[in-house]
Amino acid sequence: MPIVPAAALQDVAHLIARRMGSDEAEAAQVADHLVRANLAGHDSHGVGMLPTYVRLLHEGLLIPNQTAETVLDAGALLTIDARRGVGQRMAADAVKRAIARAQQLGACVLAFRNASHIGRIGTYAELAASENCAFTAFVNVADHHDVQATWGAAEPRLGTNPFCAAVPGPDGPALMLDMATTTIAAGKARVAYNKGIPVPDHCLIDAAGNPTDDPTGFIRDRTGALRAFGTHKGSGMAIMCEVMASAIAGGQGAFHDPKGGVLNSMLATVIDLTKLGNPAQIAADIAAVKAHVKSARPAPGFGPVLTPGEPERRHAAARAQSGIDVDDTTWHDIRAAAQTLGITPAEFDTAAASRTA
Ligand code: NAD
Repeated sequence: MPIVPAAALQDVAHLIARRMGSDEAEAAQVADHLVRANLAGHDSHGVGMLPTYVRLLHEGLLIPNQTAETVLDAGALLTIDARRGVGQRMAADAVKRAIARAQQLGACVLAFRNASHIGRIGTYAELAASENCAFTAFVNVADHHDVQATWGAAEPRLGTNPFCAAVPGPDGPALMLDMATTTIAAGKARVAYNKGIPVPDHCLIDAAGNPTDDPTGFIRDRTGALRAFGTHKGSGMAIMCEVMASAIAGGQGAFHDPKGGVLNSMLATVIDLTKLGNPAQIAADIAAVKAHVKSARPAPGFGPVLTPGEPERRHAAARAQSGIDVDDTTWHDIRAAAQTLGITPAEFDTAAASRTA
């Protein structure tokens, strides 16, 4: 299992994104986003996504250097269609426009549609937090076979439909909930399958609708489904993410026939907290909420109480030092995908070794 320094992983991702046809700025954005996801501990949304992106490119389902279409620009309402553009760039550009609009008007509702995979949603929350804005996003995943079984269903009808909410702090979001509405993200089942390990309990059902911890059927054979987190509540949240992103934001829905791509749409809100009230008081109250929650005595068997966003910060600090452990299957798949773009093994190895030692 190679342990790759973040900077070298970034060079590999950049090389692949450039060879996919992205211009310099887009390739840098993709590489930065993916490696930050790895650093945050979300390997499901890190460089392991590159083989999927390469496949989408070959199948004409992802379009580098795409120009987004502004469908509606009406004060606090902004609708942007990314037209299968590279998600990391399309979504960051759209959220930056929404932040600028919130800074003018106090708030902006962003209806963002049809980008190829936008990756880790927290990335966009971090953009908003860095401008002292609160952020929410209801996101769906479409154009893909269904993977999520809702409460009481024996077969899937939705994507992993993430939800994200964040409020600013002195150095990035003070609190940031960034989660799939499935118990684990689909990419985490992929990582478990690649490592040959089981997934945690209550995450998967098999083709008959029974619980299983073996990701093989789900990843290799496309049978079974990921379960919504919790019981009816997680499932309800997944359904609301679907309706907000598809019916309300106007993106492709899980109910449309899929072509085999990965399309993300989201209904996001950005609120400029300097316009909403007394910024110092809001900041103090955010800190007070966090401190109050963390002051609770840990339950038996638990460490200190954490708040959303803290695990990612801890991972990032540790992995910046140690490097990122990429499992052999993922590394092999990334190399193989690179070769389909004409990247030679020597070129790949040079990029991968670029910052080692
Ligand atoms: P996860 O289960 O690791 O974490 C979910 C949230 O819980 C995070 O906000 C985390 O900070 C918080 N958390 C974790 N442990 C905690 C603890 N002990 N105490 C308090 N809070 C805690 O994440 P996930 O659901 O597997 O999602 C992983 C990533 O996948 C996210 O970045 C998400 O945006 C992304 N995602 C993207 C898509 C897409 O289509 N683009 C789809 C699904 C998920």
